[in-house]
Formats: sequence, structure tokens, C-alpha cells
Amino acid sequence: MNLLRDLFDFFLPRTCHICGCRLRDSEEFFCVRCVESLPRSLYHHSPMNPMERRFAGMVPFVRATGHFIYSRNSRLASAIHDMKYRRFPNVGRRLGEIVGSELLSAGFFDGADVIVPVPMHWFKQARRGYNQTDFIARGISAATQLPVSRSLRSCRAHKSQTSKTLAERQANLAGSFRVADPDALRGRGVVIVDDVCTTGATLRTLAEAVMAQVPDCRLYLLTLCVTI
Ligand SMILES: [Zn+2]
Repeated sequence: MNLLRDLFDFFLPRTCHICGCRLRDSEEFFCVRCVESLPRSLYHHSPMNPMERRFAGMVPFVRATGHFIYSRNSRLASAIHDMKYRRFPNVGRRLGEIVGSELLSAGFFDGADVIVPVPMHWFKQARRGYNQTDFIARGISAATQLPVSRSLRSCRAHKSQTSKTLAERQANLAGSFRVADPDALRGRGVVIVDDVCTTGATLRTLAEAVMAQVPDCRLYLLTLCVTI
């Protein structure tokens, strides 16, 4: 088995999705140095952090954080691009594992019962072949042992959100999500997971849809990355 892996590695060497260096056997998608140097927000250490301020007074939630700081020029950008557009969904799973284990030891998931990825409209998912957020959720699940529930649905394909104001994004998203299986979330601590939080419009709309259908669940809002 090792021989097969060594042969594979010789012809198709595995490289770090951030710095491009060749990976060691124990490394997956990223080298240890890159994982250590990723820009962390550390928002989960502070109540009313900038992420929580984005949602305060709009939707009820227990905790909210975005784990890595994201910008177009950041070291993380190439990994996010690979995850979303270059058919490397397991980059998302690996990042989810990192986020999950770091937040687990900090107590972020205390009281949480289930992880729910932000759904992608079926047409967009069929075109891309996967929903990267689902892979992030799987990684968080592997680190926390919390189960993943795919009880949310994206009802319609909304237009691109880039270059829209927050109000335009909200209007664009209104009525986009529904809970297909409310019983799976009733009375539970529900961690909603998304890839990147920019204005927070998607998470806010989704949280409103969940609370409208399942008013007794407790929401945790968690994104892999957050823009500042
Ligand atoms: Zn690296």
C-alpha cells in the first residue's frame, strides 16, 4: 500500500494549496507551516465580536464567529479558490477540521447538537458538482463528532451577490431558503455553517427562515472566513 502511495506521490506529487511546497506524508492539502500562519480572527474569544455585531438585534443567536480573516490578496484566497472553483472540495473538509478542532477546545460548540451547511440551489450544485459548504461541515463534524443535518433547502437560484449593497442582497435573497425537515432542528442547538461571510446577508436570511419555521432552536453562526 505504501509502495502504491509512494509511486503516486512520485508521478503526481501532493503540494500545499497555499505555498505550493511538496507535502509530507502526515500533511493533507496544507503544510504545517501554512496551517500555523493562516490569519485567524480569534473572534470566538470575545463576546460581541465584529461578526456578532453584524447580526445583533437582527436574528437571535447563541454565538457567531468567522474563523479566518479573508481578503482577495490573503494567503487563504488561493485555497478558497481551489475549494470553490477548481474541484478540490476536500480542501474545504480539511479547513473545516482545523476550524472545528480549534473552536471545540475553546468551548464554542457548548450546547450545540447539529451542524447544518448553507445549502446551494440544486442547479448550481449540479453545475459545480458539489457544495463546498457541505464539505466544510463534514470537516467540522469530524473534529467535533456533531452530526451533519442537510435539512435546509435553497428554493431558488439567486443572482450573483457580488457588487450588491447589503439591502440589495437581502432583497435578492428573500424567500430563498426553507427548512425541509423542521423536526431535525426542533429544540436543538443548530450550527449554521457557510464558507465566507462578507455582509452577512446570506446567513441573516437563512437564520430568519430557520427561526420562522423552527422558533425553538438555538442558532450558532459559523463561517470559515470573514472579511473585515
Ligand atoms: Zn504551505
